[in-house]
Amino acid sequence: MFNKRTRIKELLKTEPTGQEVTVMGWVRTFRNNQFIALNDGSTNNNLQVVLELGKFEDELLKRITTSSSLKVTGNLVSSLGKGQKMDLNVTTIEILGDCDAEKYPLQPKRHSLEFLREIAHLRFRTNTFGSVFRIRHSLAFAIHKFFNDKGFVYMHTPIVTGSDAEGAGEMFRVSTLPFDNPPRNEDGSINFKEDFFGRPTNLTVSGQLEGELAATAFGEIYTFGPTFRAENSNTPRHLAEFWMIEPEMAFYDLEDNMNLAEEFIKYIIMYAMDNNREDLEFLAQRLADEEKQLPQDKRSEMGLIEKLEFVINNNFERITYTEAIDILRESNHNKKKKFQFPITGWGMDLQSEHERYLVEKHFRKPVILSNYPKEIKAFYMRQNDDGKTVAAMDILAPGIGEIVGGSQREERQDKLEQRMKEMHIPLQDMWWYLDTRRYGTVPHAGFGLGFERMVQFVTGMNNIRDVIAFPRTPGNAEF
Ligand code: ATP
Ligand code: MN
Repeated sequence: MFNKRTRIKELLKTEPTGQEVTVMGWVRTFRNNQFIALNDGSTNNNLQVVLELGKFEDELLKRITTSSSLKVTGNLVSSLGKGQKMDLNVTTIEILGDCDAEKYPLQPKRHSLEFLREIAHLRFRTNTFGSVFRIRHSLAFAIHKFFNDKGFVYMHTPIVTGSDAEGAGEMFRVSTLPFDNPPRNEDGSINFKEDFFGRPTNLTVSGQLEGELAATAFGEIYTFGPTFRAENSNTPRHLAEFWMIEPEMAFYDLEDNMNLAEEFIKYIIMYAMDNNREDLEFLAQRLADEEKQLPQDKRSEMGLIEKLEFVINNNFERITYTEAIDILRESNHNKKKKFQFPITGWGMDLQSEHERYLVEKHFRKPVILSNYPKEIKAFYMRQNDDGKTVAAMDILAPGIGEIVGGSQREERQDKLEQRMKEMHIPLQDMWWYLDTRRYGTVPHAGFGLGFERMVQFVTGMNNIRDVIAFPRTPGNAEF
């Protein structure tokens, strides 16, 4: 058997008593022809591998370069050096893969995140990305655990969709028709009957509508999958391909929905705090170092870990859209005309600068905003009795802005159809959706959490491109 190895993370927890172990990994540094810092991706902490002077041939030593890969067997002993608890005294060493140090683009020094994005295939080998992606994994696992423990059913909603009604964003067309000479109808329009699916299809922007279909049978479901939006917004918070978690629950109203979302966010943060402490501490230090270069007033008030503890230990602020508009209108920020988009009054859509003002300056904690004007929200949101607002809720997080968007869904067939007509959504295309309101409709609610925004929040990474392995953004789909 080839792979009889111990992970470095596990080794570092054991007592070194001379026991024989085999490790495999990549060389981070090699000093004095004697000390290898070996990393195997299980932790940022390297294992110090010690070669006895004179015991190994020069030919072999020369091949131990940064990022060459090794299989090492030896004995684990207490370290004489100060930097580490244990050393691995080598008996045999095998080079699995050479690495030309002249050509290898990662040097043992600090690289900019922008540079690392250009070599995203190698950036996993840095401490920062090691930490980010181990935490990303943990959060994904915690999400499944949270819902599984609560008895939710995990639904896989389609990625290719024939519905374009959700309106959450611009869609990517899926087609096998030839670009240069597509089949056409008599009037010159493209004949999608000849396309692969016999109709126009797109990549999904959200699994919600299909999620609702399942919730009205299982009670509580969630989706966790990729979604696509052809939005031409080059921001640190938007991707063209991102992952979304969308729970959908029968017999929930807006308040139940908010309670679940708050509990959920706290749970997954707590999970990372309990299981990724070392990586969080590394990223907290990274962030603190980065912020030292900023002027005092631009630095965060709390460190990363303090911030996460604060979120876990405090209730989210809950206010209505109407209250938010009042706060924003009366703010000095608005009076001094510091918003790029001034507060024009009730009915306006909130820009991310407004959301961030509420969370970062006014309340200084996560905020759940509810009951938005129906004009700025989707057709499926439940109409409130005031005739002006819908039972929507967004959760805003410090440093990120919107992290969750959700609502109680309109379960009353007549109200739903009336709203769809007003918004020019073709009812006949949505026959399957409307069927749930025809056949045993129930009050229900749900929300969507952008996974990468959550990972950003937990890791403190400023740019969403640095929390997904291979970001897809306008003009960029390398790797
Ligand atoms: P925003 O106003 O920030 O563009 P949205 O209103 O379009 O968000 P929703 O349609 O409610 O967002 O989607 C649900 C969640 O998905 C959002 O709360 C956010 O966390 C995430 N999200 C939305 N668009 C993107 C994107 N382009 N990249 C990454 N995450 C996104
Ligand atoms: Mn959007």
